[in-house]
Amino acid sequence: MKIALIAHNKKKKEMLDFCSRHESTLKKHQLLATGTTGHQIMENTDLIIHCFKSGPLGGDQEIGAKVANGEVDLIIFFRDPLTAQPHEPDVSALFRLSDVYKIPLASNVNTAELFFKTLK
Ligand code: PGA
Repeated sequence: MKIALIAHNKKKKEMLDFCSRHESTLKKHQLLATGTTGHQIMENTDLIIHCFKSGPLGGDQEIGAKVANGEVDLIIFFRDPLTAQPHEPDVSALFRLSDVYKIPLASNVNTAELFFKTLK
C-alpha cells in the first residue's frame, strides 16, 4: 500500500512515536510524507520515505494530487485542532479529496491504531 504520513508541528512527537511503534509494519509499505514530518521520521527510524515539500509550502497539495491520481491508499494525518494553521485551506482540500476518492484518513493516533490493527 501507499501510505501518506503528515503531522502538524504539535503532533510530530505523536507521529514519531507512532512510526517507531509500527516500524515493522510500515517497512512493508511505500511511504510518502510532507517534508518536515518525513525527514523527522527518517531521522528517528530506519524507514525510507519519499518527502514532498513542507506542508505550509505546498506539501499537502502535492499529496492531494497523488490522492486525485489514485496513488495513495491510506492517509495518516495527525492534525492539531487547537492551533491555527496558515495553510488550513490546503489541509481542508486534502481532507476533502480523501472523501471524494474514499481514501481512509486517520486524523488522530487512536484512529491510526485501529487502522493498523487491520493492516497487520
Ligand atoms: P510538515 O507539514 O510535515 O512539513 O511540517 C505538515 C503540515 O503542516 O501540513
